[in-house]
Amino acid sequence: LRIIAVANSRFSTASEPSWRHGSSLRVPNLIGGSFVDSHSSDSIDVLNPATQEVVSQVPLTTNEEFKSAVSAAKQAFPSWRNTPITARQRVMFKLQELIRKNMDKLALNITTEQGKTLKDAQGDVFRGLEVVEHACGMATLQMGEYVANVSNGIDTYSVREPLGVCAGICPFNFPAMIPLWMFPVAVTCGNTFVLKPSEKDPGASMILAELAMEAGLPNGVLNIVHGTNDVVNSICDDDDIRAVSFVGSNTGLIYLFVFKAGMHIYSRASASGKRVQSNMGAKNHGIVMPDANIDATLNALVAAGFGAAGQRCMALSTVVFVGDSKLWEEKLVERAKALKVNTGTDPEADLGPVISKQAKERVCKLVQSGVESGARLLLDGRNIKVPGYEKGNFIGPTILADVTTDMECYKEEIFGPVLICMQADSLEEAINIVNRNKYGNGAAIFTSSGIAARKFQTEIEAGQVGINVPIPVPLPFFSFTGSKASFAGDLNFYGKAGVQFYTQIKTVTQQWRHLPSGSGVSLAMPTSQ
Ligand code: NAD
Repeated sequence: LRIIAVANSRFSTASEPSWRHGSSLRVPNLIGGSFVDSHSSDSIDVLNPATQEVVSQVPLTTNEEFKSAVSAAKQAFPSWRNTPITARQRVMFKLQELIRKNMDKLALNITTEQGKTLKDAQGDVFRGLEVVEHACGMATLQMGEYVANVSNGIDTYSVREPLGVCAGICPFNFPAMIPLWMFPVAVTCGNTFVLKPSEKDPGASMILAELAMEAGLPNGVLNIVHGTNDVVNSICDDDDIRAVSFVGSNTGLIYLFVFKAGMHIYSRASASGKRVQSNMGAKNHGIVMPDANIDATLNALVAAGFGAAGQRCMALSTVVFVGDSKLWEEKLVERAKALKVNTGTDPEADLGPVISKQAKERVCKLVQSGVESGARLLLDGRNIKVPGYEKGNFIGPTILADVTTDMECYKEEIFGPVLICMQADSLEEAINIVNRNKYGNGAAIFTSSGIAARKFQTEIEAGQVGINVPIPVPLPFFSFTGSKASFAGDLNFYGKAGVQFYTQIKTVTQQWRHLPSGSGVSLAMPTSQ
């Protein structure tokens, strides 16, 4: 392996990343503390979605290199698990400080590779930073339990131990937040980690890894391998990897082949005995009651529908207008029309481009299929031109009304700046629409009635519920609790569940008392004395 950069002490965050090798665009892997170029000659171009310029190239890591990354993580585990938890926490304290210092650099990288606006990119980093802050309290989070004298002279206590090597597979839409959902929690629990960033925007993961090492993470505790399906399948099959965190889609099409990412990874990794948490796609509904605050609701719908060009798993992509609130459609269109579409570095931009030409094509096709099935196109952003960025994958805010549940544009996650509008005569009917949808990531209600809100909260089948809140992504002291087809596994990301996911519980029963002699042997099942 060609070593591009080695010792942690040499890292400088102020200048160009140390893993950039001269003018080479190749993104290195991180193995055992060294940024190393892959021997593979195959790579994927990372394109700036606003310009199509090649930003970097992601290698398709060879199996041998993947094995080296796992082996580095395995070797680093014994000493890292025995590093005092206070010392592990201190690395997170330092990491959160470094992330704050490098916020602009991270945000600019995200905007360049992913396309979202700089302000939104800062939010991406910030929501991940909050997980790092939470991991600073790991000693408390990882505490076990103790019951004294469960029987005469006998106490029982439990401890949460790290698992070993864990791995994370990331999507493109939150290049900083999602890696930060994974490795900070895993490593502060005492595990070592192999991260596979999205092949579409690996830069933020690289910067974060560099910062983590500068913060004091020992060599081999965090490793990075790049690639696509092959390296992911290797992660699923590897006997030394104990747990896999996945965030991404569960549907996709390559030529005529439909593939499933999330459930495929869930099944394949589970089949080899691993723990898996798999966060997948979504179709989040917002139910609008006629008694809602019009202004606040319309603002919330526009922000949650079109923010990040609709490429958020918690985007509110479907509005269900109940009764007379349908009359607000026109006002919704006015507000959506006022949004500015431009390259993400333009300070005035509200939304940037979608990730790729293929993504734009797919979104436009789904909009067209809606029109052909009878939906009304209230706003069409498909042919938008952004001066100076004619090659960008821009789609302007698009609104389809009179959408019904049998339409393709309803059944599929669109993942673009498209808001689809439906209608219901009653809250009951609206809740039924949401509950019949296969996804269960999030749902929101807009109302001024506590009774309606309470009914919604109780009856809705979605894992994350917003009441007058459009994107209810919980902060890290809770967990990200998608449900139904949006999640597979038992233990969610971050919060208490995240710590449980990355640890194995061990329960110890100890006896310390003067044992009477001559009491004989009893073969009966022991019971509390
Ligand atoms: P994606 O599924 O295309 O890719 C995610 C990761 O899986 C990538 O690292 C990719 O290399 C790998 N991958 C993709 N297909 C694979 C296959 N067949 N076999 C093995 N590995 C494969 O997802 P994306 O387009 O990058 O991200 C967008 C999707 O992620 C949307 O569906 C969105 O809703 C979802 N998402 C969900 C959450 C959540 O928390 N529920 C959060 C963010 C994104």
